Amino acid sequence: YGASMEKIVSLCKRRGFVYPSSEIYGGLSATWDYGPLGSELKNNIQKLWWNEMTRKHDNIVGLDAAIMMHPRTWEASGHVENFSDPLVDCKQCKTRFREDKLEPEVLKSRICPECGGELTEARQFNLMFSTQMGPVADSGSIIYLRPETAQGIFVNFKNVVDTSRVTIPFGIAQVGKAFRNEITTKNFIFRTCEFEQMEMQFFVKPGDEDEWFEYWKKTRMAYYDKMGINSAKLRFHQHGEGELAHYAKDAYDIEYEYPFGWEELEGIHSRTDFDLGRHSEYCGKEINYLDPQTNERYIPYVIETSAGLTRSVLIALMDAYHEENLGTDSKGNEDVRTVLHFHPNVAPVTVAVLPLVKKDGLAELAKDIQDELRDDFTTFYDKSGAIGRRYRRQDEIGTPFCITVDYESKDNNDVTLRFRDSMEQIRVPRAELSERIRKEIKN
Ligand code: ATP
Repeated sequence: YGASMEKIVSLCKRRGFVYPSSEIYGGLSATWDYGPLGSELKNNIQKLWWNEMTRKHDNIVGLDAAIMMHPRTWEASGHVENFSDPLVDCKQCKTRFREDKLEPEVLKSRICPECGGELTEARQFNLMFSTQMGPVADSGSIIYLRPETAQGIFVNFKNVVDTSRVTIPFGIAQVGKAFRNEITTKNFIFRTCEFEQMEMQFFVKPGDEDEWFEYWKKTRMAYYDKMGINSAKLRFHQHGEGELAHYAKDAYDIEYEYPFGWEELEGIHSRTDFDLGRHSEYCGKEINYLDPQTNERYIPYVIETSAGLTRSVLIALMDAYHEENLGTDSKGNEDVRTVLHFHPNVAPVTVAVLPLVKKDGLAELAKDIQDELRDDFTTFYDKSGAIGRRYRRQDEIGTPFCITVDYESKDNNDVTLRFRDSMEQIRVPRAELSERIRKEIKN
């Protein structure tokens, strides 16, 4: 059986992946905290993305820009004017809806789907969170929490060109928090007001954008295989005329099939020279590029790949979650194993080390083995409970490898290596463990 949202939320809470934010005060709607396992999972996904996008390319460099930016940024980007959702309210029960998410019959009848009351006309609601900077609260001190990480890249375009010897085509990658005052926030961590994005802006010569757009579509789709995501659950969705953002020439979403339907996971956008052009206009300085070979000066075109990090955590969990029926146990009860089949690249714990019993030096030996593996993998030591139960606990958090240290290990210097997915167990010499696990991860 696959994942339902209730099962994922419950597992996340029970095992320490994700908690409701400020829960002791009753929680804050649509905000979540990542627990011991959730923060490992999120870090691993971020690391995978970073390595795939920067280390594996000569021409992509990193950036870590501030969340707070000069307010002119958001005038130039179009967010002050355009970054809004059309909202309608029910006059009776006061429920608030995004008009573009309402069913056609509701739009026509203007009757509230919750209580049958009358809906108001739509009004535009800007999604940016604003706050004040400095001691005086006047309109001149208003700043915004960034609603996307992309603009930090555009405003630093010249800095990066002048300081890092990149030449076009090249990219700038960034991972960080973004904030949107979203109204529809059900579905756990799918859509939240505070979230993280993994964005890369790729700057190309005008005319080359279509070729690079195809390249990035292909490359980004292939990336999800490295994350271990089932390709049957992923598809492209091309934006139609009405969906295209004001700056976009072409746009595709990579969509995932969530339990609540196909929805966006990542956007790949052909943004033309809109952003650099607008920032040039708003800051009053030319932002362009001098081709060192041809001495040609131009404003580059941009291909953007924009993925949600926190949304990726959700698909990693959903895709990995399985309940497997293993037949009946000795008492005649159905034996159902809950297992997260995480790719070892992203699993919060890579190796669990388990002494068969605590006594007779086995605990010390297991600790010793754990210490040997610490530098290479995220490890976990668990000494209590029957070994079968300990395996199941690791299955439930998605640990791909368990090492069991038993009496024979003392004599022969070998251990049992147990694989999460097949539940197969083999003997491996202690000295070969690290290499063996590394090989398994690569496969
Ligand atoms: P949606 O249509 O779902 O609101 P969007 O088209 O506004 O998303 P983009 O602005 O293209 O999204 O942002 C890029 C990525 O950032 C999305 O594909 C998604 O993974 C992530 N993202 C955007 N908004 C949120 C949010 N409120 N919560 C979590 N992730 C988000």
